[in-house]
Amino acid sequence: MMKVLVVEDTVTSAYVVCNQLANMGLTALHAQDGETGLEIFKRERPDLILLDIVMPGLDGFEVAHRIRQLEQDGDWTPIIFLTSRTDDRDLQRAIDVGGDDYLIKPVSEIVLRAKVNAMRRLAQMRDSLLLLTRKLDEANRELQRLSSVDGLTNIANRRNFDEKLLHEWRHCSRMTLPLSLLIIDVDAFKLFNDHYGHQFGDECLKAVARELEKNSHRPNDLVARYGGEEFGVILPDTMLEGAQLVAEAMRAGVEGLGISHSWSPVSSVVTISIGLATIIPPRGSEGGISALIRAADDALYQAKEGGRNRVQAALGVIRVAGIGVASVVRSPQ
Ligand code: GH3
Ligand code: MG
Ligand code: MG
Ligand code: MG
Repeated sequence: MMKVLVVEDTVTSAYVVCNQLANMGLTALHAQDGETGLEIFKRERPDLILLDIVMPGLDGFEVAHRIRQLEQDGDWTPIIFLTSRTDDRDLQRAIDVGGDDYLIKPVSEIVLRAKVNAMRRLAQMRDSLLLLTRKLDEANRELQRLSSVDGLTNIANRRNFDEKLLHEWRHCSRMTLPLSLLIIDVDAFKLFNDHYGHQFGDECLKAVARELEKNSHRPNDLVARYGGEEFGVILPDTMLEGAQLVAEAMRAGVEGLGISHSWSPVSSVVTISIGLATIIPPRGSEGGISALIRAADDALYQAKEGGRNRVQAALGVIRVAGIGVASVVRSPQ
């Protein structure tokens, strides 16, 4: 039931209004002065406040002002001022301090009923607006999530990968830290699809993605679907040796899944090949990102050439165009 707080120092007037509210089936809470009114407001959180203007101690203006300060973001309790004054400036002030409407005393039951109903409608509209806003927020968050997650495997998508790689490149460059990148490709996956069907192929990709994630332990690592049956793993602040350990664990993990692949020229189960490259990104050289990717890609190609189901690190140095500096791939011995 709707609770209405009546803040009114004149007992007879309060009595009349409370009775009228009771006749409308509403619960009336009476406060005889502003301080008590504020206490009841805090305790009871009424749905509507009828507020006398002229009272000893805190007057109606001050009470309305404090109520608005007590309300949290999104909170709003309708306030109707009760006044025997009809001075326009008072009414203006009543609205300025946060009032929503006013009633002239003595209060007519018909007018009171109409205004209470109007306020109730406003409150309902505000509630549905709040609900809508909340749903919109949720939808936005979900959209944000969807735009960075791969629909099939539920891991980061290519867009997420690109953003993260740029971010970590800049960070590692600033801090002079090594940045490692793995490019992973499922071996003989075309044959897998051809013989087991695309649906099973999709299931296989999901299982591989899960296994890769399982083997990336640091919160700052990122495993992403790079495209098709290829994955990219970003390992910030990780030396080549560390990246090699992670890559080998991933390779062994996928092999250990034991997903049958009778047509693979490599093994009786699904396997992956991994190319990896490490760089300490030179300062101001974001163009070097593509050099890092190319280095990992070339290493992957070598892993394929070398027989698949293996990890291959990029050898030598990664030349970052325009900088004229060759960045060391291998960590200092
Ligand atoms: P390699 O060992 O040299 O990597 O051989 P491969 O057969 O894996 O290489 P290729 O690039 O020729 O084939 C990749 C295949 O991956 C092509 C396609 O059938 C399959 N593929 C790519 N994306 C998806 C996908 O989202 N779902 C499924 N089911 N298959 C995919
Ligand atoms: Mg009064
Ligand atoms: Mg491929
Ligand atoms: Mg492949």
